[in-house]
Amino acid sequence: MTHPPVRRFKDFRWDDTSLLAYRQEAGVPFKDVTRQILFEAPDLLGELRYFEVAAQGFSSLERHDHRHAVVILRGHGRCLVGDSVYDVGPLDLVDIPPMTWHQFKASQGEPLGFLCLVNVERDKAQLPSETDLAEMRGNPVIDGFLG
Ligand code: MN
Repeated sequence: MTHPPVRRFKDFRWDDTSLLAYRQEAGVPFKDVTRQILFEAPDLLGELRYFEVAAQGFSSLERHDHRHAVVILRGHGRCLVGDSVYDVGPLDLVDIPPMTWHQFKASQGEPLGFLCLVNVERDKAQLPSETDLAEMRGNPVIDGFLG
């Protein structure tokens, strides 16, 4: 642990915690997302991150073997989890099972911020192929969400 036991919170930033770009890989579609790693705890096998999607922004549409446990902290938006789309707001819990397509979109006018718990050791996210996308768009609910 390189930081003090208590790191203060103000305006959705934490002391001694870097504001990072969402992801480094080129060509991954997303819009206006930042990331803060709050706890990197290999002894707990977990990592807790805070993501913030700017108003009208979105996270990448992806799936992977690892699970996500998400707690919305601020704002409102919608999320795709598998075949369903949900409205989400502060303190809602979102459980994203392994190998399930998922994406978060912020509403107009306010950022959507959420905590996300993952395994420290985790597989890389898969992005949908053209075939996957066509299949997803066959579901009107998902098609409407993807826009
Ligand atoms: Mn994910």
